[in-house]
Amino acid sequence: MRTKPRKTDTYTGFIPTIACVRSLYGNVKSIQGPYYRDDGRLHIVLYYGHTNTPRTKTVSFPKLLVEYKIGRRLKVNETADHKDRDFTNNELTNLQVLDKAEHARIDAKRRLPENFICPYCGTFFQLRDKKLADATQNRKRGKAGPFCNRSCSGLYGTDVQNKRCNTLEVVAVTVRHTKITK
Ligand SMILES: [Zn+2]
Repeated sequence: MRTKPRKTDTYTGFIPTIACVRSLYGNVKSIQGPYYRDDGRLHIVLYYGHTNTPRTKTVSFPKLLVEYKIGRRLKVNETADHKDRDFTNNELTNLQVLDKAEHARIDAKRRLPENFICPYCGTFFQLRDKKLADATQNRKRGKAGPFCNRSCSGLYGTDVQNKRCNTLEVVAVTVRHTKITK
C-alpha cells in the first residue's frame, strides 16, 4: 500500500461530473471534495436543495466511483471492493462490486494463516480463514483469546467465573493480507 493519505492531502484523481452524480443521486446542487478522513479513506459530500439551508449526504468516494462505473446505485447487499486490497488505489479498473457476504468470505481467504499461543495452556496453534477472521473480530470486541480449542476457552471461562484467575491478556493479532488474483 502507498503511504496512508492524510486529512490535509488533496485528492487529484478522477471525479465524475455533477451530471453523472445527479444521474445516480438525484437533484444534487453541488459536490464538495472528495476529502480524506483520518483513516485515509475518501468521502464526498453531496449538497441538495436551497444553498442557504443545504441538505447534505456524505458518500464513500470509492462507492460513488464504482456506481459511476456500473451506471447505477449499489444495492444494500452490495459493496465497493478494491481488487488489489489497497484502499488508496481508487483507479476505476481497481474497483468492483461485490456481494457483502462474498466480500467477507474473500477477505477471510485473503488473510495468511496466523500463529498464536493459547493464553490458557501455552500451546502453539494456527488459525486461518473464517476462524482467523472471527478471532480478529473477538479481539476488537475486547474478548480474551483466541484459545487453542473449545476446551481451553471453556476452562478459562469457568476459571474467570469462579475467580480462580484474572482476565487473561489478549494475544495480539496481526492481520496480514495476501494478494490474490481471481
Ligand atoms: Zn489451550
